[in-house]
Amino acid sequence: MLLDLNEEERLLKGGLEQFAEGAIRPKIKPFVDRHEFPTELVKEFLSLGFMGTAYDPDFAGGGLGTRGAAIVAETLARAEPGFGAIYLCNSAPMTVIARYGSDEVKKKWLEPLCRGDFIASFGVTEPSGGSDVASIKTRAVEDGDSFVLSGSKVFSTNAGAPLHGASTFVAVTDPELGPKGLSTFVVPVGTPGFKVGKAGRKIGWRIADSVELFLDECRVPKANMIGKRGDGLKQILTTLSIGRILVGATGLGLARKSIDLAKSYGADRKVGGVPIFNHQGLTFPLADALTKIHAAELMIRNAACLADAERPFRLETSMAKLFATEMASEVADIALQIHGGYGVFEE
Ligand SMILES: Cc1cc2nc3c(=O)[nH]c(=O)nc-3n(C[C@H](O)[C@H](O)[C@H](O)COP(=O)(O)OP(=O)(O)OC[C@H]3O[C@@H](n4cnc5c(N)ncnc54)[C@H](O)[C@@H]3O)c2cc1C
Repeated sequence: MLLDLNEEERLLKGGLEQFAEGAIRPKIKPFVDRHEFPTELVKEFLSLGFMGTAYDPDFAGGGLGTRGAAIVAETLARAEPGFGAIYLCNSAPMTVIARYGSDEVKKKWLEPLCRGDFIASFGVTEPSGGSDVASIKTRAVEDGDSFVLSGSKVFSTNAGAPLHGASTFVAVTDPELGPKGLSTFVVPVGTPGFKVGKAGRKIGWRIADSVELFLDECRVPKANMIGKRGDGLKQILTTLSIGRILVGATGLGLARKSIDLAKSYGADRKVGGVPIFNHQGLTFPLADALTKIHAAELMIRNAACLADAERPFRLETSMAKLFATEMASEVADIALQIHGGYGVFEE
């Protein structure tokens, strides 16, 4: 499997880097400081068409699959990890619709999301816990031509943003079937009974708002069900696996930026009359960091290739996310140490 960027991917990366470095980086800090969703910057990003990168061109997508999406997440995260998070949390509802929705559902929801008309959120995690997705309590009861949803979700990222237009919710349709009784629905903003609760202030990804959502007898047409009744668990597990590749890619972007800053600082900063990188004690951790960044990139691209080829990929996506996110934290620490005392100042 060839893991190099192909021509289309290089063009994607180049175009997006211009936006990330030219528009996001110089303007983002006040939003991070205020824990504020950067509405105008996200609008600008949506207008450039990158949101549809991964998806089918028949529905206004760019056709570059998960490999392309990983490049978008990484490049945005280099400028600001929270911007990568806004992208990847919007990708989750798009992925579930793209993989499992009928053409009618894709036309109605995926196409405007690819065009960037609005953003969406993924409502899986509930107050009682997120790891055990099979224990979801939100109910969807069939009533004539509709389903009526009741329950609550937490940590729904993007759902409190002004550009938010819809959520995909996983709910219990058939309690007697246990994990096989879950199904997924699109619920548009403005549906009576669909309420946004409070946003939690986070220690990272600050600009990506994560909110509570409440469904109080929310009625949606049956046509808003994604795929087959009872397929909800399978749909979530696959979508979360693809999401893991993008979470890993945001870690990769963060690590790359950290080490680039450290490399330029270490080349200029002199201790004992020579640049600090002349002291091997600092180049060993730098070499470790660069090696781990490379390994993470290969794992992420390999997992993305498997996903795009419709081959089994859950193990590889989990390993890529685990490795890349732990690597990001280690590399950020190495970069901070290379900066010496300046490493702890916000500037
Ligand atoms: C920034 C952020 C954004 C998010 N955005 C979204 C979103 O948009 N949509 C959404 O639906 N969710 C979202 N989530 C939720 C996320 O998916 C959950 O936090 C995650 O699934 C874990 O669930 P939990 O927090 O309830 O932890 P729990 O499930 O309560 O787990 C607590 C701890 O126990 C560990 N644990 C759990 N089960 C086991 C086990 N069997 N064996 C050993 N250890 C175990 C966990 O690893 C964890 O360390 C977001 C979370 C964060 C932090």
